[in-house]
Amino acid sequence: MSVRAATVPLHEDEVIEGIRRWVTIESPTYDASGVEAVLDAVEKDFEGLPVTLDRREGRDGYGGILKVSSAEPSNEKPILVLSHVDTVHPKGTLTGRLPFRRDGDRLYGPGLYDMKGGAYLAVAGYRALVRAGVPTARPVTFLFTPDEEIGSPTSREAIEEEAAKAAYVLVTEPARDGGRIVTARKGVGRFTITTHGRPAHAGARHQDGRSAIREMAHQILAIEGMTDYARGITTTVGLIKGGTAANVTPETCTAEIDLRVPDPAIGEEMVARLLGLRAIDPDVSVSVQGGINRPAYPKTATIVGMLERAQAVAHAVGFDLADCPMTGGGSDGNFTAALGVPTLDGLGIDGAGAHTLEEYGLVSSILPRARLLAGLMETLR
Ligand SMILES: [Zn+2]
Repeated sequence: MSVRAATVPLHEDEVIEGIRRWVTIESPTYDASGVEAVLDAVEKDFEGLPVTLDRREGRDGYGGILKVSSAEPSNEKPILVLSHVDTVHPKGTLTGRLPFRRDGDRLYGPGLYDMKGGAYLAVAGYRALVRAGVPTARPVTFLFTPDEEIGSPTSREAIEEEAAKAAYVLVTEPARDGGRIVTARKGVGRFTITTHGRPAHAGARHQDGRSAIREMAHQILAIEGMTDYARGITTTVGLIKGGTAANVTPETCTAEIDLRVPDPAIGEEMVARLLGLRAIDPDVSVSVQGGINRPAYPKTATIVGMLERAQAVAHAVGFDLADCPMTGGGSDGNFTAALGVPTLDGLGIDGAGAHTLEEYGLVSSILPRARLLAGLMETLR
């Protein structure tokens, strides 16, 4: 396959400088002004390109959404390139423990790997195609969102709306283990379980008490016992709160449950099991609330076809590309894949340390992956 993206002019120093500009604007999800400032920088990087910009105001205290569409009108369904510009790092990380810096092949900075690096590579790749006069196979729509790191409460609607109009979705989340891309993700569920007992003096009236914490202990073992690695199901009780004092039989206890499932059918089964939890102690009540918030993203035959296309592009660029086994981590790719729109994820920069103070991207992955993204835009018909 001839892929012009493999040889269009692209300069590593320029791309690093672009990534630096985005990364040195701190944008934790809860800082709308930081997120908006990154969107301003993104707009600037499209200047001079034949695109139309659609900047939407944020809501509920979060930053806004930027949609960038290639301008040539066409009836063809576009390729949607999906990126989030928020990070998990609080303000001050950049001037504190994770300054932007280069150390050999590693480029450090808050959100550099997850995912400003990857988001920038898509823009740089697209720009290189335009400058070289290489047409894309379909129109391209970029969507930059403000709140992926907290589950996309204010952008999910826009993501699903754009995905429904698209032929393909490319997600610029970071690459995995040696540059692997993501072709499947587990579904994610969140639940809160509450037990309600009867308070009593722990010394004088012990026999009258019905402990909400004791009941919760039974429930936690039952919930964690639902983990089944062979079927790809995990359950985790990650937070717990209960009681008022050491000498009082606790009246209430609450716990938060994280659920991961490999497909929608198992998702439904697990939701029913969790919502159906019943008390062991007849004098204590148990209630469970919650459900699936990111549907499973299974590897369909169309996605396998997209993967093969990506592998052919990578081959033309000069590297081997593989996908990783279904990952437990969710992303906005879950939303688009669940709509039946073929989605490739993990196309962003290679590196490691997402969500930590050791977060870095690999300089050596910058040009190959910018070319990979550009090559997909060039060839995905
Ligand atoms: Zn991310």
